[in-house]
Amino acid sequence: MLVDAARRAIAAASPDDARKMARNMQRRLLTPVINATGTLLHTNLGRAPLRWHQDEGYTNLELDLTTGERGSRMSTAPALIAKACGAEAAIVVNNCAAAVMLVLATLAEGRGVTVSRGEMVEIGGGFRIPDVMARSGARLIEVGTTNRTRRADFERAVGDVGNDVGVVLQVHQSNYRIVGFTEAPTTIELSDLGPPLVADIGSGLLDSRCPWLPGGPPSWLAREPSARQTLEAGAALVTFSGDKLFGGPQAGIIAGRADLVARCSRHPLARALRPGSLVLGALQATALSYLRGAGDQIPFWRMASIPVTDLRQRADSYGVGDVIDTAATPGGGTLPGVEIASVGLSVAGDHRTALRERTRPVIARVSEQHTIVDLRTIHPDDDIEVTEALRELG
Ligand SMILES: *Cc1c(COP(=O)(O)O)cnc(C)c1O
Repeated sequence: MLVDAARRAIAAASPDDARKMARNMQRRLLTPVINATGTLLHTNLGRAPLRWHQDEGYTNLELDLTTGERGSRMSTAPALIAKACGAEAAIVVNNCAAAVMLVLATLAEGRGVTVSRGEMVEIGGGFRIPDVMARSGARLIEVGTTNRTRRADFERAVGDVGNDVGVVLQVHQSNYRIVGFTEAPTTIELSDLGPPLVADIGSGLLDSRCPWLPGGPPSWLAREPSARQTLEAGAALVTFSGDKLFGGPQAGIIAGRADLVARCSRHPLARALRPGSLVLGALQATALSYLRGAGDQIPFWRMASIPVTDLRQRADSYGVGDVIDTAATPGGGTLPGVEIASVGLSVAGDHRTALRERTRPVIARVSEQHTIVDLRTIHPDDDIEVTEALRELG
């Protein structure tokens, strides 16, 4: 790698830059960073923060320790997640895009899938419903209009035998809202049309009552669909990401009716999309925290529910910069426009580069010529390091 850097510097006729080029190569590797942006699920910073590692050694990934026979990797985290959201069964794949793809390929290959025109979403990174649909081999049947779609529109589309509808798909408008003269059918209204209702809820709120938080659901969660309540309302399957509001590693979860989950897991694509023990281990730890009702063990929920008074106390103890009120955001393409009251420190000038160039980069934001670090996304253990970083700005 160092020789490469030297050769590139020489080829560019600036041999003195070799050291800088080598350093930039190193800076492009994956490394821990401090998220001081106040965006809890920051797409550039790996969405949900994780504190998980696997020791050197083997795991019983596919060995049933109770019988000594070949086991199933889906009996670990997926079974616990199913339990936590009240589903009969669940399987895990690489991400939510893969989950939607697998469900459609399994239940609707060569058949029609109805989607409201108001839910033809694009999530960041090129997940577009019409494209995923095409790749899965299903045929998109657009229903209703952009702003208003009713149950009757779906009934007509499903009733048309030429459409051969295999799945009724509901997609959560994760990262946008349609306001004004709008109407959309509820999950209950779409659940008894005949074909299985699949709800891509996206962000992975497990239960709208948030039994893992002592204070119950925070007010900013209102209107976010949840796995348990969507299944209770009659969805046959839900799909969601592991690294958004679920607070785990990158993964896609398919949960719901056992017969449909079993069909998905028998599809050849399931083998291509399945996760390994690192992801299943991290998901299992997250799922166990949910089942214990211990939201404080899930970094996302711990950060999201810290009282503002605690943040202000920490900010006061920094002794550098001005303590200001800030608005943190859930981020990750979830809950657009939602703000979570927070506290930050403000320092005059744009110091993002200096903070980013530290051995452990501190990622901050700038507003009105001031650099802001938001305490809601900074782990308390990192307060001293961030204090030093701000002091050293001079
Ligand atoms: C985020 C999201 C996806 C994509 O999830 P990935 O895990 O990033 O693949 C799909 N559907 C919805 C509704 C989403 O919110």
